[in-house]
Amino acid sequence: MQIPTQGDASAKPTPTLRWATPLRALLRHALDVALPPLCPACRAPLGDGVGLCADCWAKLSFIERPFCARLGIPFTYDPGPGLLSMEAIASPPAYDRARAAVRYDDIARALVHAFKYGDRLDLAPTMGRWMARAGSELTQEADALVPVPLHWRRLWSRRFNQSAALAGSVSQICGVPVLYETLKRIRATAQQVGLSKPQRAENVQGAFRVPPERRAEVAGRRLLLIDDVLTSGATVDTCARALLRAGAAHVDVLVFARVVAPVRSPI
Ligand SMILES: [Zn+2]
Repeated sequence: MQIPTQGDASAKPTPTLRWATPLRALLRHALDVALPPLCPACRAPLGDGVGLCADCWAKLSFIERPFCARLGIPFTYDPGPGLLSMEAIASPPAYDRARAAVRYDDIARALVHAFKYGDRLDLAPTMGRWMARAGSELTQEADALVPVPLHWRRLWSRRFNQSAALAGSVSQICGVPVLYETLKRIRATAQQVGLSKPQRAENVQGAFRVPPERRAEVAGRRLLLIDDVLTSGATVDTCARALLRAGAAHVDVLVFARVVAPVRSPI
């Protein structure tokens, strides 16, 4: 599969990297032939399973209705259609609606880590399928998918943008095209892990931009931002602001997993 990447033309791989990548792929392939693939969450042999073993698959917490119409945060009971969570009313985001396939719990974290840092790009089609299902309402109305970009330096060290890979998988299912180069991360930001909500917002402020020559791709269009995990929402909120500033008509968000606080009640 051709993995879409967010590229920077100046970020040419060094000779060492250029050889390291196929070598790593070759070694991985050799190991795959010798050993059965393992479940990224519990390390049990996968057998015929795709992505996770049957036990972990059963433990994965898919987000189903009822949830906040705006943020997609699941409710503990059904308050009726269209009701919003306290978060959506207290601090409405720049994007219109957010949806997620699963809760970000231990199993989802193991899956995302294997995908992002463990060379498990083969998980992208499965994760993308779950996302397409969770976001079907949004993809039906979207003109294009926009992956949250990595800064070119991080892209270089990680070799692929996980959000772009997920956007490619979602696109294959729903048929909505992906704008890979439209939104740019113009500033390298510290990892959001370990930061408070206000710190996260400050960390990513002004980090994204649609270059002037790309504005025609977003002007007047309905866009769907794609990311792997939604924690505080600061990153996708900043991305949505950049797209709206560039003239987008509407921005929604679709992620693989979102952090959900233990108890949520509608107001
Ligand atoms: Zn497992």
